Amino acid sequence: MRKVILQFREIKDAPKELEVMIDNEAIAARFGELIDTSRENYCNGVITAEKLQGAVSVVGSLQSKLHLICSKCLETFEYKVPEWFNLILMPAPQAFKDEVELESSDLDVVYYKGEQIDLTDHVLDHMIVEIPMNPVCSENCNGVNYKCEVPEEDEIDPRWAALKNISSNDKK
Ligand SMILES: [Zn+2]
Repeated sequence: MRKVILQFREIKDAPKELEVMIDNEAIAARFGELIDTSRENYCNGVITAEKLQGAVSVVGSLQSKLHLICSKCLETFEYKVPEWFNLILMPAPQAFKDEVELESSDLDVVYYKGEQIDLTDHVLDHMIVEIPMNPVCSENCNGVNYKCEVPEEDEIDPRWAALKNISSNDKK
């Protein structure tokens, strides 16, 4: 998979569009058991990066398909992550020493150092944040289907079968 790398010098004069193509392998590595990795999951789209005053605006338009596992019936179902994705990139303040942890409580602001930034992980973060904690395949999901364990109506419960034998013996 090609990483989504933004070179800051490329947006010095004009916005730049970056292609996003995140394949199943990369999604599986990040999502683990949150998704059904035996199906084809993907996230494709375009990210537009634009220089603002003292920051960089990142706007993504993403078409994705994830196969989530329903928390009620345990069946796999397709889920589309919301299309739009926004980030503000800010240069890390000079005062930040290496031992100081960058505050990440505000998910939409990312501090960067250096000449480029890898946006791939930020796209994956966006996807993870957008999937429901308890995914459900549909509003009408009835939960796990135990039908196969319920006897047919006209099938006689073995506990009653014993009684039936007694009653037929009586007739003899
Ligand atoms: Zn379900």
